[in-house]
Amino acid sequence: MLTRWFPHIRWPWQPKLSGTQRVEYVAAQIPDPVQRLKYLRQANARLDQQQSPVPTGRPISWKKFATFAAVILALFVPWKVISDARQNMRVYKPQSNRDSKSASTTSSVWIVDENSSIETYSNGLRVEKKFTTENKRRKYFKFSQPAFQISEDSFDQPAGIIFHTTESHTASLAPENTRVIKRLGEELLKFVRAERSYHYVIDRFGRVYRVVEELDSADHAGISIWGDSQSLLLSLNDAYLGVALEGQTQPSDTDAITPAQIVAAKQLTEMLRSKYQIEARDCVTHAQVSVNPINFEIGFHSDGGRDFPFSQLGLPDNYAVALPAIAFLGFEYKQDYLNKTSEALWVGLREGDKALRAAAKRNNLSVEAYTDKLRKQYRAMRAEIRARNQSEQEERAR
Ligand SMILES: [Zn+2]
Repeated sequence: MLTRWFPHIRWPWQPKLSGTQRVEYVAAQIPDPVQRLKYLRQANARLDQQQSPVPTGRPISWKKFATFAAVILALFVPWKVISDARQNMRVYKPQSNRDSKSASTTSSVWIVDENSSIETYSNGLRVEKKFTTENKRRKYFKFSQPAFQISEDSFDQPAGIIFHTTESHTASLAPENTRVIKRLGEELLKFVRAERSYHYVIDRFGRVYRVVEELDSADHAGISIWGDSQSLLLSLNDAYLGVALEGQTQPSDTDAITPAQIVAAKQLTEMLRSKYQIEARDCVTHAQVSVNPINFEIGFHSDGGRDFPFSQLGLPDNYAVALPAIAFLGFEYKQDYLNKTSEALWVGLREGDKALRAAAKRNNLSVEAYTDKLRKQYRAMRAEIRARNQSEQEERAR
């Protein structure tokens, strides 16, 4: 209780904390998530500038505070309150870093039966094929880190999964709505087939439909970025599989994702990860990868930005992964994005900010100067992809 009331004081029972730990600790005491994120951004920026925390982050000597508080307490507070407060003391535990490699492997899933309309897999997955269509073949390049060097060769196998919600009109899941749910689902499937919008759609009853063939591109991700400390990908329509859950999550809908969809999405994720050796950290939502290259803000599309059931799909909490667009290419986010996403995803924003600041420091640049440099780099990378695609087209035409 005391620690909550007076977060800036280091009590004798608390460990000595470094500047960064102190900031994290103070943040943990701020109940309002938006305020907490604001505090973290400001305090971390100050830490970078000054090497040591400034007033909001610096612990006040507990002795000085205790002398003052003892007088006040002795006068006004019954001893019972103090003993209660001691029992409620929270012990500070530094947050452990998420192990990105845990849950990176998946057991093997194989096809056991197939006919012209349905595929059945060893984990119970059934894929319906009556809405399947083709599109142009996948082809994409990767950029090495930290040199941002474009790969010599192009790639043609799926590199990861992006989860979407269709945000299409539907009815709540109830027996009396069966007919209307079926009709809306069928209309959606016809529409996304015509648009080549996704590789898979999972309808409200958990039926899995393959729309665009897995080895073709689908128009699901728009301008987007994902990657890690080894490589970056900027063309996720070509590189990733798009899996869409039929439903509306915005502004907020409690049965946005149905239990049947979760079961099916887990089975589909297992099959795709097994087939293409996809790492767990490369299974993310549209809100995490979508960017606007004009204003350099993330989250041009924000579906899957709130309460996505990663763990129920057999995945780690990928919301906690530092967003590559922020960490490696200097994108940013505004209040609007925070409003559309949940607190779990903000961990990834903070980690992205942190990584960006650390990289600026390593490069002996201010965060602003380093961000400018990265944004120029991003434009150059996109130009490079365009040039490479064009030269390959010309080669084929010859
Ligand atoms: Zn989407």
